Amino acid sequence: MIVRFWGVRGSIPVPGKETIKYGGNTTCIEVLTSEGNLMIIDAGTGIRALGQQLMKEDFGHGKGVCHIFFTHSHWDHIQGFPFFAPIFIGKRNKDGKVVKSSANRLHIYGSAESSRSIEDSLCGQMSDCYFPVSLSDLSATISFTYLTGKPIKIGKTKITTLPLRHPNGCLGFRIEDNGKVLTIATDCEHPENGECDPNILALADNSDLFIYDGQYTPEEYDPNKFNICLPSKKGWGHSTAEEGIKAAIKAHAKRLVITHHEPLHSDKMLDSMEKKAKGFMPSIVFAREGMEIVL
Ligand SMILES: [Zn+2]
Ligand SMILES: [Zn+2]
Repeated sequence: MIVRFWGVRGSIPVPGKETIKYGGNTTCIEVLTSEGNLMIIDAGTGIRALGQQLMKEDFGHGKGVCHIFFTHSHWDHIQGFPFFAPIFIGKRNKDGKVVKSSANRLHIYGSAESSRSIEDSLCGQMSDCYFPVSLSDLSATISFTYLTGKPIKIGKTKITTLPLRHPNGCLGFRIEDNGKVLTIATDCEHPENGECDPNILALADNSDLFIYDGQYTPEEYDPNKFNICLPSKKGWGHSTAEEGIKAAIKAHAKRLVITHHEPLHSDKMLDSMEKKAKGFMPSIVFAREGMEIVL
């Protein structure tokens, strides 16, 4: 299994000279399974560059197949979708119908529990007041599957989901492929009682790679605790690297990668956060755009 990070930022893209090292694009993770199936977790703005890369091969000829999993529909996880070039590739016949044999195939997965389906959210984002092309006018063929908590399979790869603690909900993923386990838990807040979220522990149990939302420093998350006069981020649905380390140790995860970086955090700030976190867990890494991990 190969894991590539195309977007590691939370909330809003932040391009600029202060974010060159870690990157400014919002969440998008590519997972290539051992059988060569392409999974994409979230369509934040990072998916645009992934689309350009994919267009150089099968997707440029309408022969590509991918499985896009949405953790949830907050902006920073869907905003890149209309700019994912493979959605526009597919021939149409005289009646304007897509010729399936010459169109890219996108299988899209979202939570069955969400207050609004992922199809509705993508459709809304592409309504004419926001974007000139509607979802129904795309040339790729798109199917929607709603995840109910029952594991699903893509080839031999098993995908298990559990809900995470996030406003309006979010899905965490456990991807088991060829004896390796990848856990993705972005957009999740740790419980207030000092315990770890049992769903996170179940998803990350003995995982080879555990990707966790460490958007805030402990001081930003709960300024009152440190006598800092700033607004609290409690209840905003995000966590800290320190909480990620706690969960990783408890779940016996082998490697921990922190993602969903706060837009206000410059490269310098993330460097210092990573250095501090390495004091507690030397193998921890803060995700960078373009980073690739082979499991
Ligand atoms: Zn987010
Ligand atoms: Zn969110």
